[in-house]
Amino acid sequence: MINIAQSLQKVRQRMSDAAKVAGREASDIQLLAVSKTKPIDMIHTAYQAGQSCFGENYLQDALPKISALHKLPIEWHYIGKLQSNKCKDIAKHFNWVHSVDRLKHVHLLNQHRSDNQAPLQICLQVNLSGESSKNGIDTHQTINLAKAITPLARIQLRGLMTMPNPNSPKQDQIRIFQKLAALKTRINQQNNRSLDTLSMGMSDDLELAIAAGSTMVRIGTDIFGPRN
Ligand SMILES: *Cc1c(COP(=O)(O)O)cnc(C)c1O
Repeated sequence: MINIAQSLQKVRQRMSDAAKVAGREASDIQLLAVSKTKPIDMIHTAYQAGQSCFGENYLQDALPKISALHKLPIEWHYIGKLQSNKCKDIAKHFNWVHSVDRLKHVHLLNQHRSDNQAPLQICLQVNLSGESSKNGIDTHQTINLAKAITPLARIQLRGLMTMPNPNSPKQDQIRIFQKLAALKTRINQQNNRSLDTLSMGMSDDLELAIAAGSTMVRIGTDIFGPRN
Protein backbone atom coordinates (compact mmCIF):
# COMPACT_ATOMS: atom_id res chain seq x y z
CA MET A 1 0.00 0.00 0.00
CA ILE A 2 1.23 3.46 -0.91
CA ASN A 3 2.47 5.77 1.84
CA ILE A 4 0.36 8.84 1.16
CA ALA A 5 2.23 11.24 3.46
CA GLN A 6 5.47 10.27 1.75
CA SER A 7 4.12 10.52 -1.79
CA LEU A 8 2.58 13.92 -1.00
CA GLN A 9 5.95 15.06 0.29
CA LYS A 10 7.62 13.89 -2.93
CA VAL A 11 5.09 15.67 -5.13
CA ARG A 12 5.48 18.90 -3.13
CA GLN A 13 9.25 18.62 -3.52
CA ARG A 14 8.92 18.15 -7.29
CA MET A 15 6.68 21.21 -7.42
CA SER A 16 9.10 23.40 -5.50
CA ASP A 17 12.07 22.15 -7.56
CA ALA A 18 10.17 22.92 -10.77
CA ALA A 19 9.23 26.37 -9.46
CA LYS A 20 12.85 27.11 -8.64
CA VAL A 21 14.02 26.06 -12.10
CA ALA A 22 11.35 28.32 -13.62
CA GLY A 23 12.31 31.23 -11.37
CA ARG A 24 8.88 31.18 -9.73
CA GLU A 25 7.68 31.18 -6.14
CA ALA A 26 6.59 27.71 -4.98
CA SER A 27 3.78 29.38 -3.05
CA ASP A 28 2.21 30.55 -6.34
CA ILE A 29 1.43 26.97 -7.33
CA GLN A 30 -1.32 25.01 -5.60
CA LEU A 31 -1.56 21.27 -5.31
CA LEU A 32 -4.92 19.68 -6.08
CA ALA A 33 -4.99 16.04 -4.98
CA VAL A 34 -7.14 14.08 -7.43
CA SER A 35 -8.93 11.46 -5.33
CA LYS A 36 -11.31 10.04 -7.95
CA THR A 37 -12.11 6.35 -7.33
CA LYS A 38 -10.13 6.46 -4.06
CA PRO A 39 -11.77 5.71 -0.68
CA ILE A 40 -12.59 8.15 2.12
CA ASP A 41 -9.83 6.88 4.42
CA MET A 42 -7.15 7.72 1.84
CA ILE A 43 -8.49 11.27 1.53
CA HIS A 44 -8.53 11.54 5.31
CA THR A 45 -4.91 10.37 5.47
CA ALA A 46 -3.89 12.97 2.88
CA TYR A 47 -5.78 15.63 4.83
CA GLN A 48 -3.89 14.72 7.99
CA ALA A 49 -0.67 15.05 6.01
CA GLY A 50 -1.57 18.67 5.28
CA GLN A 51 -3.49 18.39 1.99
CA SER A 52 -6.77 20.30 1.94
CA CYS A 53 -7.80 20.59 -1.76
CA PHE A 54 -9.21 17.52 -3.49
CA GLY A 55 -10.42 16.95 -7.04
CA GLU A 56 -13.16 14.55 -8.09
CA ASN A 57 -14.43 13.53 -11.56
CA TYR A 58 -17.53 11.46 -10.87
CA LEU A 59 -20.39 13.13 -9.02
CA GLN A 60 -22.00 9.95 -7.66
CA ASP A 61 -18.63 8.75 -6.38
CA ALA A 62 -17.79 12.14 -4.87
CA LEU A 63 -20.99 13.01 -2.97
CA PRO A 64 -20.69 10.31 -0.27
CA LYS A 65 -17.05 11.31 0.32
CA ILE A 66 -17.93 14.99 0.63
CA SER A 67 -20.72 14.12 3.02
CA ALA A 68 -18.55 11.80 5.16
CA LEU A 69 -15.79 14.42 5.45
CA HIS A 70 -18.02 17.48 5.82
CA LYS A 71 -16.60 18.41 9.23
CA LEU A 72 -13.14 18.99 7.75
CA PRO A 73 -12.38 22.30 6.00
CA ILE A 74 -11.70 20.59 2.68
CA GLU A 75 -11.94 22.48 -0.61
CA TRP A 76 -13.63 20.27 -3.23
CA HIS A 77 -12.92 20.74 -6.94
CA TYR A 78 -15.07 19.19 -9.65
CA ILE A 79 -12.83 18.30 -12.59
CA GLY A 80 -15.02 15.79 -14.47
CA LYS A 81 -17.33 16.19 -17.42
CA LEU A 82 -20.06 18.73 -16.77
CA GLN A 83 -23.68 17.97 -17.68
CA SER A 84 -26.83 20.02 -17.13
CA ASN A 85 -28.42 17.48 -14.80
CA LYS A 86 -25.34 17.52 -12.55
CA CYS A 87 -25.06 21.29 -12.17
CA LYS A 88 -27.38 21.50 -9.18
CA ASP A 89 -25.45 19.06 -6.97
CA ILE A 90 -22.11 20.40 -8.13
CA ALA A 91 -23.11 23.98 -7.33
CA LYS A 92 -24.20 22.91 -3.86
CA HIS A 93 -21.33 20.67 -2.85
CA PHE A 94 -18.18 21.90 -4.57
CA ASN A 95 -16.01 25.03 -4.19
CA TRP A 96 -14.51 24.95 -7.67
CA VAL A 97 -15.42 23.62 -11.13
CA HIS A 98 -12.57 23.27 -13.66
CA SER A 99 -14.52 21.84 -16.59
CA VAL A 100 -16.93 24.57 -17.70
CA ASP A 101 -17.34 24.77 -21.47
CA ARG A 102 -20.90 26.07 -22.04
CA LEU A 103 -22.67 29.27 -21.05
CA LYS A 104 -25.78 27.28 -20.21
CA HIS A 105 -23.87 25.46 -17.47
CA VAL A 106 -22.54 28.74 -16.06
CA HIS A 107 -26.12 29.95 -15.61
CA LEU A 108 -27.29 26.66 -14.12
CA LEU A 109 -24.40 26.67 -11.64
CA ASN A 110 -25.18 30.26 -10.69
CA GLN A 111 -28.87 29.48 -10.30
CA HIS A 112 -28.25 26.55 -7.94
CA ARG A 113 -25.49 28.12 -5.86
CA SER A 114 -26.86 29.30 -2.55
CA ASP A 115 -26.59 32.90 -1.35
CA ASN A 116 -25.11 31.56 1.90
CA GLN A 117 -22.13 30.11 0.08
CA ALA A 118 -19.05 31.87 -1.23
CA PRO A 119 -19.19 32.30 -5.02
CA LEU A 120 -18.40 29.14 -6.97
CA GLN A 121 -14.93 29.44 -8.53
CA ILE A 122 -14.83 28.30 -12.15
CA CYS A 123 -12.31 27.61 -14.90
CA LEU A 124 -13.07 27.14 -18.59
CA GLN A 125 -11.86 23.83 -19.99
CA VAL A 126 -9.90 24.42 -23.17
CA ASN A 127 -9.01 21.75 -25.72
CA LEU A 128 -5.91 22.90 -27.56
CA SER A 129 -4.93 19.60 -29.11
CA GLY A 130 -7.54 19.82 -31.84
CA GLU A 131 -9.02 16.43 -31.00
CA SER A 132 -12.76 16.75 -31.37
CA SER A 133 -13.39 13.66 -29.24
CA LYS A 134 -12.01 15.34 -26.13
CA ASN A 135 -13.82 17.66 -23.73
CA GLY A 136 -13.28 21.37 -23.87
CA ILE A 137 -13.59 24.23 -26.32
CA ASP A 138 -11.12 25.77 -28.75
CA THR A 139 -9.38 29.15 -28.50
CA HIS A 140 -12.10 31.13 -30.23
CA GLN A 141 -14.93 29.55 -28.29
CA THR A 142 -13.04 30.21 -25.06
CA ILE A 143 -12.60 33.90 -25.87
CA ASN A 144 -16.29 34.15 -26.75
CA LEU A 145 -17.42 32.29 -23.65
CA ALA A 146 -15.22 34.42 -21.38
CA LYS A 147 -16.76 37.52 -22.99
CA ALA A 148 -20.28 36.16 -22.55
CA ILE A 149 -19.85 35.48 -18.84
CA THR A 150 -21.24 38.68 -17.42
CA PRO A 151 -20.86 39.42 -13.73
CA LEU A 152 -22.94 36.92 -11.77
CA ALA A 153 -23.60 37.02 -8.05
CA ARG A 154 -22.61 33.45 -7.26
CA ILE A 155 -19.97 32.62 -9.87
CA GLN A 156 -16.42 33.85 -10.16
CA LEU A 157 -14.50 33.14 -13.37
CA ARG A 158 -10.95 32.39 -12.22
CA GLY A 159 -9.10 30.94 -15.18
CA LEU A 160 -8.49 28.19 -17.69
CA MET A 161 -7.91 24.45 -17.50
CA THR A 162 -6.45 22.06 -20.03
CA MET A 163 -5.41 18.45 -20.29
CA PRO A 164 -3.10 17.53 -23.19
CA ASN A 165 -3.23 14.02 -24.58
CA PRO A 166 -0.81 12.18 -22.24
CA ASN A 167 0.38 10.04 -25.15
CA SER A 168 1.41 12.97 -27.31
CA PRO A 169 5.11 13.97 -27.53
CA LYS A 170 6.47 16.13 -24.70
CA GLN A 171 7.09 18.99 -27.13
CA ASP A 172 3.39 19.05 -28.06
CA GLN A 173 2.38 19.07 -24.39
CA ILE A 174 4.74 21.97 -23.67
CA ARG A 175 3.26 23.90 -26.59
CA ILE A 176 -0.26 23.30 -25.28
CA PHE A 177 0.65 24.56 -21.80
CA GLN A 178 2.27 27.66 -23.32
CA LYS A 179 -0.78 28.27 -25.51
CA LEU A 180 -3.10 28.12 -22.50
CA ALA A 181 -0.94 30.64 -20.63
CA ALA A 182 -0.97 32.95 -23.67
CA LEU A 183 -4.75 32.61 -23.97
CA LYS A 184 -5.23 33.67 -20.36
CA THR A 185 -3.05 36.74 -20.93
CA ARG A 186 -4.98 37.58 -24.10
CA ILE A 187 -8.37 37.33 -22.39
CA ASN A 188 -7.17 39.50 -19.51
CA GLN A 189 -5.86 42.18 -21.88
CA GLN A 190 -8.64 42.18 -24.47
CA ASN A 191 -11.59 41.75 -22.13
CA ASN A 192 -10.25 43.59 -19.15
CA ARG A 193 -10.44 40.53 -16.92
CA SER A 194 -8.24 39.40 -14.07
CA LEU A 195 -8.08 35.66 -14.51
CA ASP A 196 -5.40 34.34 -12.16
CA THR A 197 -5.63 30.56 -12.51
CA LEU A 198 -4.02 28.12 -14.94
CA SER A 199 -5.13 24.61 -14.01
CA MET A 200 -2.64 22.40 -15.82
CA GLY A 201 -0.19 19.62 -15.08
CA MET A 202 -0.75 16.04 -13.87
CA SER A 203 1.47 13.30 -12.41
CA ASP A 204 3.58 12.82 -15.53
CA ASP A 205 3.94 16.41 -16.68
CA LEU A 206 3.77 18.72 -13.67
CA GLU A 207 7.30 20.07 -14.30
CA LEU A 208 6.42 21.03 -17.89
CA ALA A 209 3.21 22.72 -16.73
CA ILE A 210 4.94 24.69 -13.97
CA ALA A 211 7.62 25.84 -16.43
CA ALA A 212 4.80 27.19 -18.63
CA GLY A 213 3.08 29.04 -15.76
CA SER A 214 0.69 26.58 -14.11
CA THR A 215 -0.85 27.88 -10.88
CA MET A 216 -2.62 24.62 -9.98
CA VAL A 217 -1.44 21.09 -10.72
CA ARG A 218 -3.92 18.21 -10.50
CA ILE A 219 -2.16 15.09 -9.20
CA GLY A 220 -3.79 11.69 -8.73
CA THR A 221 -1.57 8.69 -9.42
CA ASP A 222 1.59 10.05 -7.80
CA ILE A 223 -0.26 10.73 -4.53
CA PHE A 224 -2.74 7.86 -4.24
CA GLY A 225 -1.22 5.20 -6.52
CA PRO A 226 -2.61 3.84 -9.78
CA ARG A 227 -6.37 3.66 -10.27
CA ASN A 228 -8.12 0.33 -10.94
C1 LIG B 1 -7.51 11.90 -13.35
C2 LIG B 1 -7.25 13.32 -13.64
C3 LIG B 1 -6.08 13.96 -13.17
C4 LIG B 1 -4.98 13.24 -12.41
O1 LIG B 1 -4.19 12.48 -13.30
P1 LIG B 1 -2.91 11.67 -12.78
O2 LIG B 1 -2.18 11.33 -14.04
O3 LIG B 1 -3.41 10.45 -12.07
O4 LIG B 1 -2.12 12.55 -11.90
C5 LIG B 1 -5.96 15.32 -13.41
N1 LIG B 1 -6.89 16.01 -14.08
C6 LIG B 1 -8.01 15.44 -14.55
C7 LIG B 1 -9.01 16.27 -15.28
C8 LIG B 1 -8.22 14.08 -14.36
O5 LIG B 1 -9.33 13.52 -14.86
